[in-house]
Amino acid sequence: MHHFDRTLLNASVILACCCCGRDTPAQRVEGRPTRVLVLFQQQAEAPPMLEFTERFRRTLQDEMRSPVEFYQEALDLDRFAERERSSSLLGYFQDKYRGLGIDVVVAVGERARKFAVEPLNAVLPGVPIVFALCAEPQTDPSSLPAHVTGRLAMASRFGPTLAMARRLQPDAQRVVIVGGAGAADSASVLAAVSATHSLGDALPVVIVQGLSLDATLPKLRKLPRHSIVLFANYRQDGQGHSFEPLDIVGSLARAAAAPMYAQLRSYVGEGVVGGSVARFDEEGIRTALLVVRVLRRRVGEPMPSVQTIQHSFAADWRQLRRWGLAESRLPKGTDLLFREPTAWERYRAIVLAALVIAGAEFLLIARLLIERSQRRRAQFVLEEQQRSAEAARRQIAHMGRVAVVGELAATISHEIRQPLAAMRSNAEAGALFLSRNAPDFVPTHRRFFEILFQDITAENEHASAIITRIGALVRGEVLPRAPVDLNEVCQSAARLLEHEAEARRANITLLLCTRSALVIGDAVEFQQVVLNLALNALDACRSAAEPRVIISTDARDHEVEFAVHDNGSGITADVRQHLFQSFFTTKSTGLGLGLAIVQSIVERHNGRVCVDSNEHLGATFRVLIPRLPSAEVPTVQRLNSSSPAMRQASGRSSFASSR
Ligand code: ADP
Repeated sequence: MHHFDRTLLNASVILACCCCGRDTPAQRVEGRPTRVLVLFQQQAEAPPMLEFTERFRRTLQDEMRSPVEFYQEALDLDRFAERERSSSLLGYFQDKYRGLGIDVVVAVGERARKFAVEPLNAVLPGVPIVFALCAEPQTDPSSLPAHVTGRLAMASRFGPTLAMARRLQPDAQRVVIVGGAGAADSASVLAAVSATHSLGDALPVVIVQGLSLDATLPKLRKLPRHSIVLFANYRQDGQGHSFEPLDIVGSLARAAAAPMYAQLRSYVGEGVVGGSVARFDEEGIRTALLVVRVLRRRVGEPMPSVQTIQHSFAADWRQLRRWGLAESRLPKGTDLLFREPTAWERYRAIVLAALVIAGAEFLLIARLLIERSQRRRAQFVLEEQQRSAEAARRQIAHMGRVAVVGELAATISHEIRQPLAAMRSNAEAGALFLSRNAPDFVPTHRRFFEILFQDITAENEHASAIITRIGALVRGEVLPRAPVDLNEVCQSAARLLEHEAEARRANITLLLCTRSALVIGDAVEFQQVVLNLALNALDACRSAAEPRVIISTDARDHEVEFAVHDNGSGITADVRQHLFQSFFTTKSTGLGLGLAIVQSIVERHNGRVCVDSNEHLGATFRVLIPRLPSAEVPTVQRLNSSSPAMRQASGRSSFASSR
């Protein structure tokens, strides 16, 4: 009953449509699903077609917001071209769809459109038709019935692709158009040829068409490199074999000895460089939106007008590289596909992370190094402080010892005065007694005792003089200064050493200059200097085979030098740096004061002490004192140190008073 009602209803609608000559939305019955019949010119399973269908269905369903029933027929008209008007095919549609209430027929492809508009009109009269993926000139928009609309590629669609090819290959010498032998293929080849004319440049056009696929491939292989190969379409070859173009476009592109361009986005990726392409997925969406507009027309509203399929530029980055074509010459806005990221793009994250880690490590190492150097510096400063504290401690201890020695010297000099005075008066008394009360003495014995008493008195004087100076020194008094003849000082010192030299079996030689060797100062102090240096020299050459000490003077223009040289073992560098420090000694019984006293006396006389030391050649101590010009000499200080008794006793010491 229900079925019968619907048939009646449909029949009345068809009648109404036939009467008014145009489709109206009144056909659609509220409350039932929208029924859409999709007719595919080819098989519906080819990948581009699947893309189209998937988007078309989804968009339509989403936009309608009510149930949509899809019916789908793949006419495969390229292979069954002659059957499109056969009564059995129409009968099939009649049996299947008549009375079902198809709301819209969507014809995908040129021949599907033709089939829908003409034979099928008898089965589904007046049902609105929306065609998709059609192209001029096969579809002429001006000759379409009123209930037909759709989306159409312009006849000039090859133009932008050719323009792109010309930009990429400015040195191209020909355009080669490749096409199949089918009707749709020929229409595409024609459109491509007319595009080359409209391009306006005089490149020769070669058409490779009508051959079998097996014959086409070698032809493409032999093409000259400076060719632009344009893929028009290839659904059927010259031997009547049908193809899905997507299946063969890759082999054609790979065989071609020159870059190949095509019109469909799906072909980019199969080996063609690119082109001004249409997207089937995009067309699925746009066709669905057009269908929605058709279904939602108000009563009496005409069909929406035919729309133009938009093309956009796409290119395969890998093919640009293969043919050495510059990416920069691509038209603006080209969709560059399959671009492989550069090493930097690919490893950027890793490189950046590595840089960050390396930077952090660098900072850490730098910080550690800085810390270490700071620690070392601090340690060095600490050690320096410790060293200077130690030096200060030693200095304080030294000063303490010096003070003690000072006190000791003061005490000794005070204490010794009395015995010395007693010794002297005894010696003087002895001498007096001898002169008055010893007439019985043998003259030689008398003379001996006279000299003995004189010597004791002289040594006593010398000792007193030294003690007086030590006392003055300790009290900080300045000693009276007078001209002193250093030749005399050396002579008197040598005389005093005679006994010592003899005891040590040493030879003391005097080498005195003939020029006046006058200086200003204290004769006793100078004598002390010579004695200290000479005694050290005698100590140093103690173990020599023939111990020898030379005391010499040299008067120059502005200074007088007196030197003490020995043939001892010399002075090591280690000892040398402590030589003049008080209490420094290498001798078991030494005090370590001799050289300190020498230096202090010499410095008090504005002089200086130098040391020459050669290992195995002994040491030489030189003392340099400013010379007093002889014209300025008033009276010269004399030392009372002549020791005739000693001189007579000495057998080894020899004195040369000139040189
Ligand atoms: P002392 O004689 O009591 O040791 P000095 O101050 O006179 O004190 O001498 C200090 C040190 O200098 C000596 O112990 C010795 O090592 C060294 N010295 C002095 N004169 C000589 C020299 N002529 N040859 C080698 N070493 C010397």
